[in-house]
Amino acid sequence: MITRRIALGAGLAALGTPLVAAQAAAPFRGDQNAGWYRFRLGAFECTVVSDGQITLAPAHPTFGGTVATEAEVQAALRGAFLPADRVAAQINCLAVNTGREIVLLDAGLGPSPLFGPGAGTLATALRAAGIEPAQVDLVAFTHAHGDHAWGIADAAGRDVFPNARFAMTAADLEFWTAESGLSLPEPMRSLVAGTRDVVLPRRARFTTLAPNSEVAPGIRAIASPGHTAGHVSYHLESEGHRLLVLGDLANHHVLALARPDWPFGFDADPALASTTRRRILDMASTDRLQVLGYHFPFPGLGHVEARGQGFGFVPSPWRWG
Ligand SMILES: [Zn+2]
Repeated sequence: MITRRIALGAGLAALGTPLVAAQAAAPFRGDQNAGWYRFRLGAFECTVVSDGQITLAPAHPTFGGTVATEAEVQAALRGAFLPADRVAAQINCLAVNTGREIVLLDAGLGPSPLFGPGAGTLATALRAAGIEPAQVDLVAFTHAHGDHAWGIADAAGRDVFPNARFAMTAADLEFWTAESGLSLPEPMRSLVAGTRDVVLPRRARFTTLAPNSEVAPGIRAIASPGHTAGHVSYHLESEGHRLLVLGDLANHHVLALARPDWPFGFDADPALASTTRRRILDMASTDRLQVLGYHFPFPGLGHVEARGQGFGFVPSPWRWG
């Protein structure tokens, strides 16, 4: 009996070798397209712009700490069809054109090799999306960690956003630029040093951001402390449409949601971070509020639903218009 599979194979073989050889001669490219995704939020035009990704390895105890075993973390990753030994963390910045100004929420890692290769693509992604970095009026930060703040300077220390003002909470601005931080053990010392390098030369352009204040009409900073003392998320609202930009409130679309009680290695106050995580995810779930996860799979947009002991992430479909 001739099966369909055998018949197809015979058909392909009949095409002969020259075509196969010609295809094999084309070199693999190995590159990727610039990561940007545009959507409307009421009167705002929003664009998720990718700074690439960083890799956190091993996955445990960076995720789970001493609360979860390595086997539990690996099982959660395998259950989501993800590699069990490492976590790829996307870097999803958000450019918001409010009609009056362009506000960028977090600025990516920039050229630093501290978290491995694969990051530093933000300016390329912005330009590919038709936004010149010089057009950015305000960069508002969720917090002062390197993968959120260091992208304001290039490898030579020059301005990436030469016309921008900067906004950060006083708690983060003070802690992460204090000279005393240079005496902290690693990796804290490097994180402080890197933030000092990019912030201090631009300190006069920084305004301190009060939690629960607006950085621009319709873009409000929401206190979400724990990951850092001054960490904020951003609530966007325009013409009744809402979006919650989580920042590092939840650092993985599976692990941080399924088990909000599992600590994350870079949380300054793990107990407070866990309490804040559960409280705000619960609010997002109850209010059916769309969220943007900074380290979630690009472009990071979706909804949170109550699931098991925690939450699940339901990605929003790509919209073409
Ligand atoms: Zn981060």
